[in-house]
Amino acid sequence: MKLALYPGSFDPITYGHLDVLRRAMRLFDRTVVAVVENPRKTPLFSARQRRLLVSQALKEEGIQDVQVVSYSGLLVECARQLGAVAVVRGLRATSDFDYEFQLALTNRDMDSDVESVFLMTAGRYSFLSSSIVKEIARYGGDVSRFVPACVAKALERKFRERRRA
Ligand code: ADP
Repeated sequence: MKLALYPGSFDPITYGHLDVLRRAMRLFDRTVVAVVENPRKTPLFSARQRRLLVSQALKEEGIQDVQVVSYSGLLVECARQLGAVAVVRGLRATSDFDYEFQLALTNRDMDSDVESVFLMTAGRYSFLSSSIVKEIARYGGDVSRFVPACVAKALERKFRERRRA
């Protein structure tokens, strides 16, 4: 059985992430989404909220049999513990390439058994990122084309709370 790990900040999960996940599910027997607890950038949502939103989004989209975990520490360690043969990452534009290349080679250096697999998103999601979605939601824009309804609601709630604080 070939298991793939799809790691990320998912702050919050978007249709772009879901597109890559669906592509991974076609290639592997099992795919596990791994939400990183301490991402590079300060997240808007807590690790618990991000994980919960991933689970809710999967349910809303009718995606079954995907486990959602959170991890802190080294990605290769998480992959090893779960018995993953591959780490899946999504590519949008060439701007993603430098960082992903560095990450993949570092991970390979640490554990040569874990292969990185890059999947290209659908063209319509190639401009989409969690950051863009947060910017739109921050100013009250409509994000329903970019994220599942549960995520749009969570964003609205979060920015309403922030405005009150
Ligand atoms: P990270 O902070 O680890 O980059 P992200 O949640 O931003 O976490 O992204 C996780 C993965 O999903 C990355 O490989 C990223 O390139 C990919 N990804 C994010 N948005 C999209 C999108 N719209 N299309 C394809 N891949 C995407």
